Amino acid sequence: MIDELQQDLRKIRCYHMANAIDDILQHSKDNDLSYIECLRRLVDHELDNRYKVRLKKQYRQSNLPCDKLIECFDFNFQTSITKRQVNGWLDFDWLDNRNNKILIGPSGVGKTHLSIAISREALLKGYKVRFFIMSEFIEEMILNEAENSSKEWIKGLLKNDLIVLDELGYLPMDRRYTHLFFQFINECYEYRSILITSNKTPHQWGSFFGDESVAMAILDRLLHHCEPVLLNGDSYRLKDKLELMGHNVAKVSDGGFPLRSKPPSETPR
Ligand code: ADP
Ligand code: MG
Repeated sequence: MIDELQQDLRKIRCYHMANAIDDILQHSKDNDLSYIECLRRLVDHELDNRYKVRLKKQYRQSNLPCDKLIECFDFNFQTSITKRQVNGWLDFDWLDNRNNKILIGPSGVGKTHLSIAISREALLKGYKVRFFIMSEFIEEMILNEAENSSKEWIKGLLKNDLIVLDELGYLPMDRRYTHLFFQFINECYEYRSILITSNKTPHQWGSFFGDESVAMAILDRLLHHCEPVLLNGDSYRLKDKLELMGHNVAKVSDGGFPLRSKPPSETPR
């Protein structure tokens, strides 16, 4: 009887229920659970496990480079953005409304950390995310163009609710590929959300794209429904080193951003 039931549960793809039915029935008997409680347990078991399997798959497909948590972000060190502001993003209304975010700032201020942590929270809430380092994105874009499969590639990407492009601006994009990137942005416009991190302010993007007019068209679409956030301050990577050196070092900003620490009062000899 149980064997047959297990087979039928597998036929209707309730694999987790089928696997757990013996244990759950036994537990229900041992604890005098009602029929409805027993059924509830079986269904919960199936739903919980389906959620876990789906999450694992979507997490893998998102291609997050590593795990970063909002809870581990030190908002006392990075004060250009508040915890309240980031927590506000975690209701993901902006994803439902197909809005974009751009995190702009010099190296080490937490742009990638925040973009990974936000992606992770979005995944936990059931959104589909695809994370790219911009150089990887460009590589894939060029490859798909060469193989005449750009349309399918973009169509695949648009299945995600959020596409993250990390580190736009570090390496210049070949002028020939700027129009391809524009096509992608245009397809996403008001249809999917994009989160970009960049060390360049949008007015510097023209030189990155090698074509001012296409850069303007890209920006126009990206910024229309977008919250740009400027993160400044010292590099977290250098935090301890700067403290060790008593901040008595000449600091070089990589994008003309203000650095939080005061410049050294005396030039070290
Ligand atoms: P960016 O992308 O702006 O160059 P990252 O996000 O890669 O900087 O940050 C560099 C390193 O410093 C990462 O290991 C990151 O987790 C850490 N980090 C940066 N800012 C903070 C912060 N405010 N609190 C905790 N860790 C941080
Ligand atoms: Mg980064």
